[in-house]
Parts: sequence; structure tokens; C-alpha cells
Amino acid sequence: MDGFRALWQRTRDRLAQAASSPIAAARNPAVAAYLDEVLDTFPYTDAAKDWFRSAISFEVENLESASGGGFWYPDRYTVFLYTAQYEAAIHELAHAWWEERRPRLKDALIAATVRLSGESDPRYAHMQQLTHGYIHGIPEQNWPGMLVDRNDWEMYAGMASGMMADLRLVPPYVREFYAEMYQLLPDDAPSPASLARHN
Ligand SMILES: [Zn+2]
Repeated sequence: MDGFRALWQRTRDRLAQAASSPIAAARNPAVAAYLDEVLDTFPYTDAAKDWFRSAISFEVENLESASGGGFWYPDRYTVFLYTAQYEAAIHELAHAWWEERRPRLKDALIAATVRLSGESDPRYAHMQQLTHGYIHGIPEQNWPGMLVDRNDWEMYAGMASGMMADLRLVPPYVREFYAEMYQLLPDDAPSPASLARHN
């Protein structure tokens, strides 16, 4: 059998299987409601909301907990979360969003992350400190950081959850990588995380 057709068939089977999981938003109204809550609490663009609702499968194992953790499975276009923690949802959705963009943008993202790690503007101090660890590692934790293996996918998702989808916390040269996914809030708007129902 034609290899491409076989691959396509397997991909379709996996997507159908993923969407039919009892913990998938496509089958479970409570999981779909949680996805809506994430997309409405944080400033996702309309384009991003549409894409997350239609192009990927979204699964949550335990909606009663917010202890965190999850995965993005690129082979079946599925975000899986252990719990209903917003930070994990923002992080794994960002992995999904980055998947199709990273081949052309990964080197530019790494360069922007390096620049942010040395940023002196105090408005961006929180994200400067976070990315300083990504670029230089954290010796006390025996962690070499993400630049050693040019891990653009964790830089992208880590900055997304590090700023909790609030683009005001990063400078314009980083915002551009997230601008199709998140809206930039006005200066006087409260932090979306502060309005969320739980952590
Ligand atoms: Zn990650």
C-alpha cells in the first residue's frame, strides 16, 4: 500500500480515536466547558479559540483537581491534562499552537528568548529572570537550561505559561510570536490570572 495513504489513514484513525475518548472535549461536556473557561478567562484571540476547538483534541483526566501536569501529543494532535490547572492548560495549548509554526520561526524565537534573558527594562523583570534560567541554566539545580539543545518548543510553551497569556509581561520582540494566539490587554486591565476561578 502506498506509504503516504497508510500514514494518512493512521493519522485519521488516531484523531478519531482521540476525539472519542471519554475525557475528550468532543465527547465530554464538562471537559468542553473547561476548555471554554480557559479560552474565555485568558485573552485568546478568536482565531485561536476556533483553532483549539476544532483542530486538536483536548482531554482532562480529573477536573476536580488543579495540581497540574500534562502533555501535547503531536502525533495525534492531542492536548492531555491531568487536572484543570490553568497554568498547565496554557502551557500545553501553547505547545499545540507552536507545532506548525516552529519549522520557520524556531531560530527567531530562540534569538528573542536570548535577548529577553538579558533585558534591562524593569517592566519585563519577571520574564527576564525566567528566561535567564532557560538560556544560562540554573547551576544550583544542576539544570543546563534550554539553549544547550536549542529547545525552542519548551521556550515557547514555558514563556506562555510563565506570563499566563498576558503579553504585557514581555517586550514587543517576544510578543510577536504570540500575537496570533493572545490579545494584548490594555495597560489598566487586571491580570487575567487574578480573575481566574482558581490557580
Ligand atoms: Zn512543555
